[in-house]
Amino acid sequence: MAEDLGTGAGTGAAAGAGDRVELSEDEWKAKLSPERFAVLREKGTEPAWSGELLHVEGSGMFTCAGCGAALFPSDTKFESGSGWPSFYRALNDGVIEEHPDRSFGMTRTEITCARCGGHLGHVFPDGPAPTGQRYCVNSLSIEYEPAEH
Ligand SMILES: [Zn+2]
Repeated sequence: MAEDLGTGAGTGAAAGAGDRVELSEDEWKAKLSPERFAVLREKGTEPAWSGELLHVEGSGMFTCAGCGAALFPSDTKFESGSGWPSFYRALNDGVIEEHPDRSFGMTRTEITCARCGGHLGHVFPDGPAPTGQRYCVNSLSIEYEPAEH
C-alpha cells in the first residue's frame, strides 16, 4: 500500500511580516519601563496632555516603543486637540492591526503594532483629509526618531 504524502503545496510560510516579535510577559517587563509596559502590554492609557511626543520638531519617524517598527511618518501627524499624538495615516497598511474594542461601554477600534502586538491606542473615523482617520496614540507607545540631516 503506497503512502500518499500529498503535494506539499500551500505552506505559505514565507509571506507577510516574517519578523514578528513575540516575548513573554517577563521579557517585556525587563525590556520596558513600567509606564511603557502598562500601556503597550496592558492596554493602559496615559493621561491626556501628559505625553512627551505631543509636539515634535522637524521631520522624522514615529516608531513602536516595544519593537522599533516604523509606524507613522511625522508628516502624517496633526493637531487633534485630544491631548494625545494623532496621525491621519500609518506608514503603510501592514504596520498597524485593528481590533474591535467594546470595553468601557464604548465601541471603539483598538490599534496595535503588527510586529509585536503592542497596544498603541485607538483609531476614530473623525480625522482630517485625505483619509478621514484619526489614529490616537499614546506617547508612551511610540518613540520619535528625527530624520538625519
Ligand atoms: Zn511593536
